[in-house]
Amino acid sequence: MSDLGDLYQQVILDHNRSPRNFGKLADANRQAEGYNPLCGDHFTVYLKVENGVIQDVGFQGSGCAISKASSSLMSAFLKGKTQEEAEKLFQTFHEMVMGKLSEPERLESLGKLVALSGVCDYPARVKCASLAWHAMIAALKGESREVSTE
Ligand code: ZN
Repeated sequence: MSDLGDLYQQVILDHNRSPRNFGKLADANRQAEGYNPLCGDHFTVYLKVENGVIQDVGFQGSGCAISKASSSLMSAFLKGKTQEEAEKLFQTFHEMVMGKLSEPERLESLGKLVALSGVCDYPARVKCASLAWHAMIAALKGESREVSTE
């Protein structure tokens, strides 16, 4: 495995072992649940949104290492971002894990989230990696129903 792959793996293992922002967000004003029946990943994402800015993020639930690490990385990354930025990041992130990122320079906007770029080689894992993001988008839109990857 390449050094870069090694580094990415370390990031994923670290976030899986000690997830950031794990737990229910007491003062959340948006939340949505995401479920990936293929793998059994099940997370609720909590957001505190004020004036179009994501002030705080939390998540709760269980799932595989990829889904947990992705939720953790996302939660840390979205704090302070506007709703618009979050939607754009979701698009870029989704293209990355699908292996369809048209302009590689857009990867830079994803910061530490590039650690999940290797997921595109494992199609079954794409849903694990994007689950929390689908829930986050549903929460932003005020859709409290459960989102399923299926
Ligand atoms: Zn999974």
